Amino acid sequence: MGKIDQVYEGKAKKLFTTEDADVYIQEFKDDATAFDATKKGTITGKGVVNNKISTKLFQLLETKGIPTHFIECLNDRDMAVKKVEIVPLEVTMRNIVAGGMAKLLGLDEGIILDEPVFEYHYKEDALHDPLINNFHIKALKIATSEELDKIQAISFKINDILIEFFASKKLDLVDFKLEFGRCNGEIILADEISPDTCRLWEKKSKRKMDKDRFRRDLGNIEETYQEVLKLVVD
Ligand code: 5GP
Repeated sequence: MGKIDQVYEGKAKKLFTTEDADVYIQEFKDDATAFDATKKGTITGKGVVNNKISTKLFQLLETKGIPTHFIECLNDRDMAVKKVEIVPLEVTMRNIVAGGMAKLLGLDEGIILDEPVFEYHYKEDALHDPLINNFHIKALKIATSEELDKIQAISFKINDILIEFFASKKLDLVDFKLEFGRCNGEIILADEISPDTCRLWEKKSKRKMDKDRFRRDLGNIEETYQEVLKLVVD
């Protein structure tokens, strides 16, 4: 399976058509951006790490009955995925207060939430991915109620699976972002799950093991991504 035409280039990935009209290849790049791409940089080897981590996590989720766009890992940077129509939502699940939730509500980072907090953000850079609710989504005709019910149920199930998985690696899953797509009328998980899209804290030390090292200039970015890869694939 090979790449034919580039159909899209995002901040961290490129998307290509293949000889099969139902299959795309997503290529993971080393480019890193933050704060609506006002901060830009390169994390050497990040694409390879995120491809391998996403592969492992998509495979894990598939074994637990979560429908995903993952088909196979082709090489270091390329993953074959089902062609989907992306729903323009960023779904976030939070188990511990950090980042956007700390800022929005004036809370300290690190508060453990009694129940996960589930959020929709409208995926629209020009508007800075605003927090929205089911009513906004229906007003904008982004998705139907049935689709939102599916997205919510799948997201909670993914959270349970990933909390347990990362706990076995001595990592706290603080929060993460998911994106979904439509494929043959079904809602399936798309995009990636990686240290770019999750906050992961080392359980004992609370050391940040994710993209916050880049966002907040904490140093040792490449080394930390490699450490997470080792923990995830071992
Ligand atoms: P927050 O809303 O606190 O900034 O982000 C919550 C979680 O979702 C974090 O794990 C963060 O990495 C992820 N996330 C939210 N928006 C984006 C985004 O636009 N790109 C990426 N890579 N991750 C995001």
